[in-house]
Amino acid sequence: MTRLIFLGPPGAGKGTQAKVLADWLSVPHISTGDILRAAVANQTPLGVQAKAYMDGGDLVPDALILAMIQERLSQADTQKGWILDGFPRTVAQAEQLDVLLTEMGQRCDRIMSLSVPDPVLVARLLNRGKEEGRSDDTEAVVQRRLAVFHEQTKPVLAFYGDRRELVTINGDASLETVTQHLKQAVAAAV
Ligand code: AMP
Repeated sequence: MTRLIFLGPPGAGKGTQAKVLADWLSVPHISTGDILRAAVANQTPLGVQAKAYMDGGDLVPDALILAMIQERLSQADTQKGWILDGFPRTVAQAEQLDVLLTEMGQRCDRIMSLSVPDPVLVARLLNRGKEEGRSDDTEAVVQRRLAVFHEQTKPVLAFYGDRRELVTINGDASLETVTQHLKQAVAAAV
């Protein structure tokens, strides 16, 4: 059983790497961004509320995200473990996740922080916008998402700062190299 949290700026490769590791560990990959995009596409009440925030590059309010994650972590497949990708993104989310995990009698094994310099992120995101047609990968929104990361998500790294589970991995390397370092970090004892 393995429970991992993936943190990092937009474009750091969290989603790609989280999927690879989830396959490797046979645990569900839980991406709040993917769940939200599906909700937007299906025009659910959550999707309708979340869309404007996402389109502007802003974070969806904590209350919506927490209800969503609580629901997801109560599903049966999460008994095998999980990888959280893109959550928590604010200190309030991180605090509430601690409460939720304590209530469920669970704890996370590793918090993986993928680190990539801003100019590399901008280039990657603009390229992804062209290739995948993601509406939030345009230049203005990319800049906003990076600013939001620095303002609201970086403090989450400080929140976890002195925990032994926190591992920082250089994400400015080939996909294979980053995967290898992540797997080593999962396998290593804390
Ligand atoms: P992502 O695919 O992880 O980059 O997420 C895409 C967008 O979904 C973000 O720019 C936010 O608008 C929203 N989002 C995803 N995860 C969260 C979260 N944990 N808290 C708030 N908003 C989120």
